[in-house]
Amino acid sequence: MIHEFYMVTPLNIEAAMKAAFEERDQSARLSLIAVDSMLKERRRRRENSLPPMRCMCCDFLFDARPPTGFGVVVPAFPDAQPIVVAHGICLDCLQRDDLEQALLASLHELFPGGSFSRVGTLQ
Ligand SMILES: [Zn+2]
Repeated sequence: MIHEFYMVTPLNIEAAMKAAFEERDQSARLSLIAVDSMLKERRRRRENSLPPMRCMCCDFLFDARPPTGFGVVVPAFPDAQPIVVAHGICLDCLQRDDLEQALLASLHELFPGGSFSRVGTLQ
C-alpha cells in the first residue's frame, strides 16, 4: 500500500490550517485530525499513568514535554480505509540534519511493506 507522509511543524502549522479549513485540502484536514487524536492520546496516557508515547525518531518520551512536530501518515488512496496516524517528533530530532533518513527508517519499521511516495510538508 502506498502512503503519503507529511510533517506538521511550528513552521507550517498555519499553512496547514489554512489548507485544511479554507482550501478544504483533504490531506491537510486528515493530518490535523490525526495530530489532534495523537495529542488526546498523549493526555489520556498521562492522566491514566500509562507509558508515555515515544518520539518517532529517537527514545525521547513525551511525558512532561509535548511533541514539537508531527509526522503524519496518510493513505494515498483515500477511498481505501483512511487510517491516518500522527507520530510526535521531538525538538532535537526536528533539528537533525539527517531527519528525512531517520523518518524514512522509522516509517519502514512502523509500516513493513509500506511504500512511501515522498516525505513532504503541507504547503
Ligand atoms: Zn526525537
